[in-house]
Amino acid sequence: MVIETNAELGTPRTNISASPDLPIKLSVVIPCYNEEEVLAELRRRILPVCQAAARGPFEVILIDDGSKDRTREIIREFQSQDIRFVGVFLSRNHGHQLALSAGLTIARGERIFIIDADLQDPPELLKEMMEKMDEGYDVVYGQRISRSGESAFKKASASAFYRVLNALTEVEIPLDTGDFRLMSRRVLNVLNTMPEQHRFVRGMISWTGFKQTPVRYHREERFAGITKYPLRKMVRFALDAISSFSITPLRLASVIGIACAGISLFVSIAVLISWIFGSTVQGWASTMIMMLFIGGVQLIMIGLLGEYVGRMYIQSKQRPLFIIEEIVREEPADDKRA
Ligand code: UDP
Ligand code: MG
Repeated sequence: MVIETNAELGTPRTNISASPDLPIKLSVVIPCYNEEEVLAELRRRILPVCQAAARGPFEVILIDDGSKDRTREIIREFQSQDIRFVGVFLSRNHGHQLALSAGLTIARGERIFIIDADLQDPPELLKEMMEKMDEGYDVVYGQRISRSGESAFKKASASAFYRVLNALTEVEIPLDTGDFRLMSRRVLNVLNTMPEQHRFVRGMISWTGFKQTPVRYHREERFAGITKYPLRKMVRFALDAISSFSITPLRLASVIGIACAGISLFVSIAVLISWIFGSTVQGWASTMIMMLFIGGVQLIMIGLLGEYVGRMYIQSKQRPLFIIEEIVREEPADDKRA
């Protein structure tokens, strides 16, 4: 067993996984944050699925995203019992998309299967996805027909999010999809060269432009535990997604500005007329309303500008995307894999 203990930096351009002579057919990439309750069941379900569908050696990469529970120990245990597991331990919680990105830079397989740890998305769909990919697609994504066990608010906000995002972006990002998908090595190679800090992986995959197709399914309840996406993280995720793929919100300032200028022209004429007729003292209410309105719009626009400038600032620092504290895996050339 090789234990790489040096902090490995997530510089996206170092593609350590492109070596063509490695025999791994499939990499499964699973970000895990405080998932101690689901990992045993995950292992029970994922291994037979991979054995049946991978068509050769495979690896299951479990990324511990700085969990506070026993997730890391369990991953270590899995790896010591079964060399097909790879453990990637991040130095702290980096968030779902970065944890996923860390796993993706480590993946060595010819095809890459992304799935959440909580078994909301059935791993058994892998077989169908593999068959679809044989037809010549580079990305086969899971598309939810329904979602059970999630609050009405989560469902409504998720549904609204995908629709707003689509309205705002030029890249076509399929509706109602997560990161649950199978992709080819060439898509991953492109993805691994993309340096953005604020990552919306499913959008980035669409952006690459390779041929994609859906597999439709019903989303289950979490096997155990609670969602690791509280409202705060969901809002940040939505802002990252929209700001990464669209500058339409910035253009909103001009549109609203023009509309306000138009309205103010009419109001000015009305003011002038009432001045001519000598009734200038009245109008406190309308003045206040206009002031509050313009003030509000301006602040919103400045805030919006701030969102983009802030992201540019963070990007300009060019820090590594994530910090891997340790990777535990078997030697790549090990032929014990089956
Ligand atoms: N996750 C992560 N880091 C985080 C939050 C979530 O790695 O900071 C993982 C989590 O363990 C799960 C996946 O991302 O495997 C999706 O999270 P979750 O199922 O809680 O989100 P939901 O399905 O409720 O949107
Ligand atoms: Mg989930």
